[in-house]
Amino acid sequence: MTTLEKLIKHFERFPGIGSRQARRFAHHLLTEPAESVIELSELISAIQSTVKECAFCHRFHAVNGTGDVCTICADPKRDHTRLIVVERDSDMLAIERSGTYDGLYFILGGTVPLLDSEDIKKLRGTALKRRVTKQAGNGLAEIILAFSVNPDGENTSRYVESILKDSVATHTITLTHLGRGLSTGSELEYADPETIKNALSNRK
Ligand SMILES: [Zn+2]
Repeated sequence: MTTLEKLIKHFERFPGIGSRQARRFAHHLLTEPAESVIELSELISAIQSTVKECAFCHRFHAVNGTGDVCTICADPKRDHTRLIVVERDSDMLAIERSGTYDGLYFILGGTVPLLDSEDIKKLRGTALKRRVTKQAGNGLAEIILAFSVNPDGENTSRYVESILKDSVATHTITLTHLGRGLSTGSELEYADPETIKNALSNRK
């Protein structure tokens, strides 16, 4: 296999990329200035050592002086009595951008589609239970489920409620959901700050 063919094979493994697009990416690199391609290859080789998953919230963050946890989880000024559970990193960033929440997060890592319950295995359900038990010892009072307003998001909420039922009862934690404001079918990631602010203040 030639270098070009190997590169195309790598691009084909990217999410949502088919063989035609993979070929276009590879050919695009052949037309780019040499220094740009070198910079890209250096960034790719450094990504796994400079970005890692936070041991608490599981989001990807730049390696810094806070050890295994990200700057949000390590920040003593944030409200450790509240925990928002979201599907993915980009949802957490959307909530941060709204500037109205100063609690902690947990990234579930996906949703539970109505028609494909096999996806449950890929989620961090067990890690979430462990996290809740641990944070309960530090005064956790509320867990806010913040999933997209669509059938998969609602199904994911039911799944998380079922796995946290016992922990919530044992530690007297309130379980809430983002309120109206997010229109039906909308994805949290693309919601504007004002919408997220309203959805958070109207949680129930
Ligand atoms: Zn974190």
